[in-house]
Amino acid sequence: MRKITLLGSTGSIGTSTLDVIRQRREQYGVFALVAGRNMYLLARQIEEFRPAVAVVASEDARANLKIRLQELGFPASQWPELLFGPRARVAAAVAGEADFVMSAIVGVAGLEATYEAVRKRKMIGLANKEVLVASGALIMDAARESEAEMIPVDSEHNGAHQCLRAGLRAEAIRLYLTASGGPFRETPAARLRSVTPEEALNHPTWKMGPRITIDSATMMNKGFEVIEACWLFGFSPAQVSVVVHPQSSVHAMVEYVDGSVLAQVSATDMKMPIQYALTYPARAEAPVPRLDWSLPRTWNFGPPDLDKFPLLRLAYQAQEAGGSATCTLNAADEVAVEAFLRRELAFPAIAEVVEETLSRVPARQAGSIGEVLEIDRESREAARESVRARAAVPAQAEA
Ligand code: NDP
Repeated sequence: MRKITLLGSTGSIGTSTLDVIRQRREQYGVFALVAGRNMYLLARQIEEFRPAVAVVASEDARANLKIRLQELGFPASQWPELLFGPRARVAAAVAGEADFVMSAIVGVAGLEATYEAVRKRKMIGLANKEVLVASGALIMDAARESEAEMIPVDSEHNGAHQCLRAGLRAEAIRLYLTASGGPFRETPAARLRSVTPEEALNHPTWKMGPRITIDSATMMNKGFEVIEACWLFGFSPAQVSVVVHPQSSVHAMVEYVDGSVLAQVSATDMKMPIQYALTYPARAEAPVPRLDWSLPRTWNFGPPDLDKFPLLRLAYQAQEAGGSATCTLNAADEVAVEAFLRRELAFPAIAEVVEETLSRVPARQAGSIGEVLEIDRESREAARESVRARAAVPAQAEA
């Protein structure tokens, strides 16, 4: 039986991962559930999956979790070890009992645990793209050294992983990542200044956590995916193209040297890539909707609008620049997205804050995860200043 540490069990990917495990209880067991603050859901997951360890973000959250477990009437004698904080996250990820680590915490909170799991040669299911965006060089060096396998869970990279199994890596010359275009694909650029968080959170094809949903609306998410793809598959940014495909049925395409283009096609359900990662290298029957090829269908493909969605261009530039530029890109974006959700920033100002932060925080090479986290902290501070400066400008003056 494969034992799993699930980083981010209460999130969108985390709950879908547990859905997949629920279907295959004879093959997969849960060693550790790691979450942040949603103790109501975590308590129910503990009751159902009986992990040996549960880790939460803070001591307060742990106290809250105990209350929730008592409310459920779950006997204390059967509770898992209840831990909190970054060290406990790392311990759950590297524990000898865990064979597979699903990395699905959002943001850099999942970085250290994922890095240490790679160093320990755990099999990794990688959903948390910020890990590679913030620290691609260190993670990939560690993976090369330990020979840990990282199976991408992000649907586009999962699709690319499948397409790349069809030929030699040296024969693949270009990767196409598809993008739905998000909720504002057809919105005139001039209207973007007045869009609300509710409109931006209304993604046309995927149900995801709030950060990635807003990142999809700005196309920052696609930029992160370009960076993630460069690290995972060894492409240069110039070899990774983004194609807008509103139906989100084709997830990725790989062009080989002879001009053949292989595409990966499946329904828009994250349980597919999650199961692929869990069962890899085998494939298994998956409880996901199938495309009905007896029905007529039309698929569209087109180029992204880099003027309307400047964060995608900034992502290419940051990856070309190298060093810590992509770490700053991620940190600034996270701060700006939170400010947008609190209605402190207009939608186009997310990109303005990120661009300003990139120009203010000098890029450098980080030699350790500690340095990455320090650059992340510095970048967040610069981004917060940029948000404050904008919030201080009266709306009229800004217009
Ligand atoms: P969610 O916001 O739904 O979930 C995030 C998870 O991270 C929650 O379990 C949350 O816990 C946990 N978390 C946040 N902060 C901490 C912390 N300090 N310590 C411990 N746990 C923490 O995000 P998604 O599931 O949508 O995304 C997760 C990752 O996967 C992201 O990196 C995203 O980019 C990537 N991804 C997601 C896809 C999707 O379809 N959702 C597709 C491709 C990639 P809690 O809720 O308990 O606070």
